[in-house]
Amino acid sequence: MTTGTQAQTVTVRVPGKINLGLSVGPLRDDGYHELSTVYHAVSLYDTVTVQPADSWSVHVTGPWGEHVPADDSNLALVAARTLAKRRARKAKVDPVRIDIDKHIPVAGGMAGGSADAAATLVGCRELWGLDHLENDLLELMGASLGSDIPFLLHGGTAMGSGRGEQVTSVLARGELHWVLWAGEGLSLSTPQVYAECDRLREEAGVTPGPPEPSGELMTALRRMDTDEVAAALHNDLQEAAISLEPVLAEALSAGLDLGARAGIVSGSGPTVAFLVGSQTEAIDLSVGLAANGPTGDIERAVGPVPGAQIIHQRSSPEPPRARPDTDRSGPLGPVIG
Ligand code: ATP
Repeated sequence: MTTGTQAQTVTVRVPGKINLGLSVGPLRDDGYHELSTVYHAVSLYDTVTVQPADSWSVHVTGPWGEHVPADDSNLALVAARTLAKRRARKAKVDPVRIDIDKHIPVAGGMAGGSADAAATLVGCRELWGLDHLENDLLELMGASLGSDIPFLLHGGTAMGSGRGEQVTSVLARGELHWVLWAGEGLSLSTPQVYAECDRLREEAGVTPGPPEPSGELMTALRRMDTDEVAAALHNDLQEAAISLEPVLAEALSAGLDLGARAGIVSGSGPTVAFLVGSQTEAIDLSVGLAANGPTGDIERAVGPVPGAQIIHQRSSPEPPRARPDTDRSGPLGPVIG
């Protein structure tokens, strides 16, 4: 009898990201901006489970579940179908049902959609037994679906260049403590924030040069000194995000008044990330913000954490293969005697 097993459900945990530095260069011919960013994965996770099914579907639960489309436009479903299509050249794969437990704020600048897509690629690779598909190849496929997906596969703290899809690890040891504020009812579309950044630059007569990584931030991360990192946080999109949602300025100054070492809009916003010195400071700040800050969801997190990772899988034994000489069971059951 064979003892092989086949994964029946695979559950993957994937973090959200914030940007410790985001330098936005000129608009490229393909409509993207040239970027230099420092991504940082934080411990606010979505959980994605994939299992074989008769048809393709996605189901979303959790605190942010109702804000996510549960249809063909869901990035997790797009990612699964893309991987299946590439695989289908070699062998047919079954459709999957995808379940997402959504805790990363939606349209919040934390790349939640890309995170779910990254988790789905990792889950389906396992489910479909595509062990030969190395991480580099998965990152390459991810990049064709969304600029942040390679980083959500990679995790940790990493530099992003190009449109953010070219990822290289950053030397950083130790841990940073964060308080994340996601304003109630707030969401910003990423293209809208980039367009506002371009508009503000044009109004001010600023022509951006090629985006540069910040040496100050790299040194601060190498030393992992909270106050040095706090001083080096930088986001070129922050002014544009505040221009579209002025309550972000209110949230930032409330956090600083309440003791945050620094505050920054994450990516295109509107989530605001406050850097604090310890877990105790994080608790104090989240309590203070809940009582005295603008209304919003408040979460504590640490970073850096790994990218999309399998946390659970259930396998079912493969059906035993009949061996004509010894197998005595037949369609009518075992032969006794
Ligand atoms: P980014 O920082 O990568 O620009 P974001 O964090 O601002 O993204 P997302 O949470 O990724 O924004 O959502 C962007 C849009 O994508 C949402 O408006 C949502 O409708 C759509 N979307 C599709 N699939 C998903 C998903 N699985 N999770 C979240 N949003 C999704």
